Amino acid sequence: MCAAMQTAPNLMPIPGHVDPVPVPREAPMQTDGRKSLVGLTREQIRAELEAAGMESKQAKLRAKQLWHWIYNRGATAFETMTDIAKAQHPWLAERFTVERPQVVEAQVSTDGTRKWLLRTAPDSSGAGHDFEMVFIPDADRGTLCVSSQVGCTLNCRFCHTGTMRLVRNLTPGEIVGQVMLARDSLGEWPSQPEGRMLTNIVMMGMGEPLYNFDAVRDALAIVMDGDGLALSKRRITLSTSGVVPMMERAGKEIGVNLAVSLHAVTKEVRDEIVPINRKYGIDELLQACADYPGANNARRITFEYVMLRDKNDSDEDARELVRLIRKYKLPAKVNLIPFNPWPGAVYECSTPERIRSFSSIVFEAGISAPIRTPRGRDIDAACGQLKTSAEKRSRAELDRLAEEKQAALG
Ligand code: SAH
Ligand code: SF4
Repeated sequence: MCAAMQTAPNLMPIPGHVDPVPVPREAPMQTDGRKSLVGLTREQIRAELEAAGMESKQAKLRAKQLWHWIYNRGATAFETMTDIAKAQHPWLAERFTVERPQVVEAQVSTDGTRKWLLRTAPDSSGAGHDFEMVFIPDADRGTLCVSSQVGCTLNCRFCHTGTMRLVRNLTPGEIVGQVMLARDSLGEWPSQPEGRMLTNIVMMGMGEPLYNFDAVRDALAIVMDGDGLALSKRRITLSTSGVVPMMERAGKEIGVNLAVSLHAVTKEVRDEIVPINRKYGIDELLQACADYPGANNARRITFEYVMLRDKNDSDEDARELVRLIRKYKLPAKVNLIPFNPWPGAVYECSTPERIRSFSSIVFEAGISAPIRTPRGRDIDAACGQLKTSAEKRSRAELDRLAEEKQAALG
């Protein structure tokens, strides 16, 4: 799986305290003053057209047409929009764009996994910010791993993204733009349910999606819209490290499948490896899972569990995991992720025998616990892999950053 993918972004250090709360953001202007329509709702497109001087009734009709061209047909230029009067194309093109994030680099693995290094439009400092997405083809499905932030405010000890500061939240346009780029590259326009390669989306790239709630919700609404990208909510999974106060809203307002990065079953170990646990503990988290709207036996909650040697991988841990899942009567499946090491990481991956033993204990209790096969290793597309040495930091620097992030969590 692609999660927590590594990039070498043009990291702009944010001075001082970074408060990990969701911050709604305006879609940034292009440097040339044009505004991107990608990521806007029908209503927002209409409002933009009106604000640019289009008469109200016409704006309503054009918004509907533009929506269809952008999200259903994948148009990348206004001149291809045949039912919009030709004379109006330059008017639109002078004011708006339908651009996706810029592709800095695209790579294909020997196992078919594809990875893109993407860049946001430049911000006021003139710099764009790099982030990644990964596409993992399988026999019966194709999964796109999408990023929600550049960097992360959290600091899970085994995750390379956790060693980065939060540069900024991605906008709805940058989130939905990832899916559109993947469709461009797979040649899968117009949106149609049959025979497509891109069948599933996981919000498991860089960042914590529930700390960028509004943008993720708005982007996924476009992805799920039948006249938009038309992907069913059953085929979308949002992964959280455990932002308990946002979980109910996620179920109600987004309604996709939930994955929870559990990774440990005792307070001591989870406090260490997933520090948000010091704020929202295991019991609170599992209660929020039990209350998650829409979870049932047909739509199980996935518990992600990264296998760290001698840290969280004993038979006793496996039995405790089963006990907890039963205690909260959770419709659950467990994904065992072999740890992907990166230079500077303080952990090692568990041995294959240990992972198998852990998996069979959970399986024997009647809970599915497959071991994930790392994909795209030759292009560093798997979890937690360091892309370049540019991001190397000393242990002292990493510790300092960890302390800062912990302080921000309160
Ligand atoms: N912030 C969200 C989603 C992105 S991380 C979250 O934490 O759930 C997606 C998954 O990749 C998480 O389960 C994360 O714990 C896992 N992951 C991160 N680094 C990893 C590594 N080095 N090896 C294996 N899994 C890793
Ligand atoms: Fe990595 Fe933790 Fe942030 Fe997820 S929440 S991206 S695992 S640091």
